Amino acid sequence: MDQGQLDANLKGIRQLLSHLHGEVTALESSYSQVLQVLRKLEGDAIHDDLSGLFRRKPFFEKWEELLAECGKLNENAGMLLIDIDHFKAINDTHGHQTGDEVIQRVAALVKQYESPRCFTGRYGGEEFAVAVKGTDAEILGLAEMLRRGVERLYGAVPGTDGKVQWKCTVSIGMSSTAKEGYDSERLVKAADEALYDAKRRGRNQVRSAA
Ligand code: GH3
Ligand code: MG
Ligand code: MG
Repeated sequence: MDQGQLDANLKGIRQLLSHLHGEVTALESSYSQVLQVLRKLEGDAIHDDLSGLFRRKPFFEKWEELLAECGKLNENAGMLLIDIDHFKAINDTHGHQTGDEVIQRVAALVKQYESPRCFTGRYGGEEFAVAVKGTDAEILGLAEMLRRGVERLYGAVPGTDGKVQWKCTVSIGMSSTAKEGYDSERLVKAADEALYDAKRRGRNQVRSAA
């Protein structure tokens, strides 16, 4: 091979390497975009869009983990089921947009109390579930704080220049491992019964499992 041919071959190899470099850079950028989309999807699968709280399924996965851990260590834990009172009337009177805002504001309030010992999920439309590690007195104390916090919430109804304001209250049912043991379904059922009791007794109150 003469010098001219050698130079031509080297030039070809350089061009090929430069082309390959461009391809690798483009692949890296596509890969990072795919990762971003995957992370977003993962977040959406775990968190509810409207409230930002855990969706029902991931909430209950964490709840089962918390119960297993507390069961092993013989620690107390409990569940609060929170339901906005007469929420249908809020939607009917002030519109669905206000209803959504009320859900967001109640969710944001409950979220403020999240800690390594407490997390929250959106249980259903206007219902939230809170999992708490602590004594019965601490769990009931938290429930009462949440109930009073919601009582203080208010906001302007859109399209009324702030002349009309919404307010809301919640009813809360509480159950705990002290009484029910570490069975997840039993705890949820007991909290649900206590919530029903709070509704029956006039709403805007906390009731614990009988
Ligand atoms: P109670 O005091 O007995 O709980 O009465 P309630 O009116 O709160 O209960 P009900 O179950 O009759 O009504 C709940 C309403 O919540 C019905 C449903 O249309 C509304 N809802 C559920 N999810 C959403 C949501 O994401 N946004 C809005 N705006 N409304 C919702
Ligand atoms: Mg409800
Ligand atoms: Mg309700």
